[in-house]
Amino acid sequence: MALSGLEIFKLLPKTNCKKCGMPTCLAFAMAMAQKKVGLDKCPDASEETRQKLAAAAAPPMSVVAFGTGDAACKAGGETVLFRHEEKFHSPTVVAVTLPDTLDAAAMQDRAARIKGFAFERVGEAMPVNAVAVMNTSGDAARFAAAAEVARTTGKAILLVTESPAAAAAALAKVKDARPLVCAATAATAEAMAKVAAEAKCPIIARASDPEALAALTEKLKAAGCDAIVLWLDAPDAWSAMAGLTAIRRLALKKAFRPLGYPTIAFATQGTPEQQVAAAAALVCKYAGIVVVDTVEPWAMLALLTVRQNLYTDPQKPVQVEPKLYAVGDANENSPVLFTTNFSLTYYTVESDVEAGRIPAWILCVDTEGTSVLTAYSGDKLNEKTVAKAMKAADLESKVKHRKLIIPGHVAVMSGKLEEETGWQVLVGPRESSVIPRYLKEVWSA
Ligand code: SF4
Repeated sequence: MALSGLEIFKLLPKTNCKKCGMPTCLAFAMAMAQKKVGLDKCPDASEETRQKLAAAAAPPMSVVAFGTGDAACKAGGETVLFRHEEKFHSPTVVAVTLPDTLDAAAMQDRAARIKGFAFERVGEAMPVNAVAVMNTSGDAARFAAAAEVARTTGKAILLVTESPAAAAAALAKVKDARPLVCAATAATAEAMAKVAAEAKCPIIARASDPEALAALTEKLKAAGCDAIVLWLDAPDAWSAMAGLTAIRRLALKKAFRPLGYPTIAFATQGTPEQQVAAAAALVCKYAGIVVVDTVEPWAMLALLTVRQNLYTDPQKPVQVEPKLYAVGDANENSPVLFTTNFSLTYYTVESDVEAGRIPAWILCVDTEGTSVLTAYSGDKLNEKTVAKAMKAADLESKVKHRKLIIPGHVAVMSGKLEEETGWQVLVGPRESSVIPRYLKEVWSA
């Protein structure tokens, strides 16, 4: 937590020597509190002062990185409790289990399914990030073999075991992939910390309440582990959410360093529906990593969509490039529709046009990433901006007809748009989902 000017002043030498270029130590402290100068300008500051100020300046929640190359993941680094206060920084890492009790064929099959997950929404890739290798067998050799299979997915790896010996066996095979070692408990802290520290890999601390977790992280730090993730061992998703919320508050609002780490939560119980519901809730509050057992694509899509929505920057609308897009094999006779460059609006319209199976042009008008009605009421969508977009896209050379289909919500701009462009305006549906029927009934008729 940042210190006030007076708190900084109490730590300074108070000699008013002016070596820092300020008239007094108080003036220097005030400037430091406003981040206008750094402590390096005061040559007489004690080592203790330097350490205290460095600790106060440290972020309230550390970032933990694991995986390498394309599989590199990071969790933590969050600074706020609520997204609208600023934004969330590290999208929750989504991991899928790979139990080491599967036979060879089933394990390869599951790994291939995890590797094959490829989701995209509103123009963004939504990756499944990691594989959680589960030492369900309790056998070190099986665990190590499963870790090697996990590597073939190209995802980051979590090594989930209670046994330091099994963790060491798996690390011997995959430590170059910088896996996350899961987990040290009060009973295994020393041994597990030794295994993780030797492999230079981050570690998870597991305990059943925040107090015990705080004690455990201090123990792990003393044993040489700085990259720590917290696992609050809760009986159900509701208890986990309550516990993770308490941890986030303590870390961010009280600057309680022993809990200033990202968290992990497991939503591996119950049906795929139950797992996804629990995992989605845990993405909201406040899992930095969430592990599910299901490999159902529909379940994964739902979970990844929740994550994507939560981790956009609320102050920056997600935009697509404003230009003319061809849907299907659009040609000179194809209909032309326009919409705005708000990502969700554009991709909704695009998928509905696609569903109509009539090749078409979509003119994407630059409205600074706002939706149709918002842009219209803010005067970012009017006859002039549409005409400008038509000209920029050289629409007259793309189609022989001079007909423009406009969103039903802005039917009111038809007259002015016709005057401005000379094109015939056709008022399209108010709801994008009606576009396929509209194109069949109006354009193809
Ligand atoms: Fe005070 Fe340090 Fe500046 Fe001297 S250099 S006036 S001790 S803050």
